[in-house]
Amino acid sequence: MKLLISADMEGISGIVDWEQVTPGHVEYQSRGRQLMTDDVNAAIQGAFESGADEVLVSDGHWNARNILIEELDSRVRLNSGSPSPFAMLQGIDDQPPPDAVMLVGYHGMSGTKKAVLDHTWSDTRVRSVFLNGRAVGEIGLNAAVAAHYGAPVVALTGDQHACEEGMNMIGPELEIAVVKNATGRFAAQCLPLGEARHKICEAAARAVIKFREGKAPPRFAVAAPVQLAVEFVYTQHADRAYLIPGAERVTGTRLEYTAPDIVTAHRAFRAMTMLARD
Ligand SMILES: [Zn+2]
Repeated sequence: MKLLISADMEGISGIVDWEQVTPGHVEYQSRGRQLMTDDVNAAIQGAFESGADEVLVSDGHWNARNILIEELDSRVRLNSGSPSPFAMLQGIDDQPPPDAVMLVGYHGMSGTKKAVLDHTWSDTRVRSVFLNGRAVGEIGLNAAVAAHYGAPVVALTGDQHACEEGMNMIGPELEIAVVKNATGRFAAQCLPLGEARHKICEAAARAVIKFREGKAPPRFAVAAPVQLAVEFVYTQHADRAYLIPGAERVTGTRLEYTAPDIVTAHRAFRAMTMLARD
C-alpha cells in the first residue's frame, strides 16, 4: 500500500499565526518548519507501523519549501518546490499511483468561524470556491483531485474545524487527529506536542489498517463536467483572473468556469489565483 501525505502548515501542532507559517519571519524559520516536519514524521511513523509499503510526502504550503528534509524520516521521498503540476497533491500521478492520501496540517476553508488561519488557497485574494455549487476549501479541492486518480483521503489532521470539514466532505470513516482547539483565527488551545504527535501517528495507523481491510472512506468524486466558481475578494482580482480563456464574469468579484474534469478545474483555479494580483 502506497500512501501520499500532503502537508500544509496552518493546521500543524502549535501553529496559530501567519508569522509562524510565512517565509521571512523569525518564528517560521526557527519553529514553524520544525513543527511541520515533526507532525509529518508522526504520520509517516504511524503509516509504516501499520503496514504501509511506501510513503511519499508532498510539501503543500506556500512555495513548498518548508519541510526540513534533513529531519524528515529517511524512508520517504519528498516532493518540494513550486509551482509543480499538482501543487499540494504533487505525486498523485506517481507510478505506481498512491493508493490513498492523508492530509496533515490542514485548515478550515475561508470564512469558517473561529478556525485557525482559515482561508482557501490565498488569504488576500480568494473569498470562496465552489465545485458544482458546493463550497469547498483546500480539503475538498485536494480530495476531489485525489478521487480523480482513484485515491480516497483516509486521514486528516488540523484544528477541530478542519477535521469537521473533512468529515462532512468525506464521511465518518475519515480518521482524524485534532491537534488544537481553535478559539479564534489567531488563537487556539494547543495540545502538548507529544500528545498531538501521538494522535497523528495513531490516526495514520488506523487509516492504513482500515484501507488494507477494505474499509477506507469513499472517494470525494466530483461529477464531470465540473462547474468551478471562484468568489474573489476585490473586483481587480476578477479583472485579472478573467484573462483565463473560457472564464465567465458573473458579478464584479465572481468568475465561473466549466471544466471537462476536476484536474482541469484545479489547474484553472490555480491559474486564476496566480493572475489575481492585488
Ligand atoms: Zn493551506
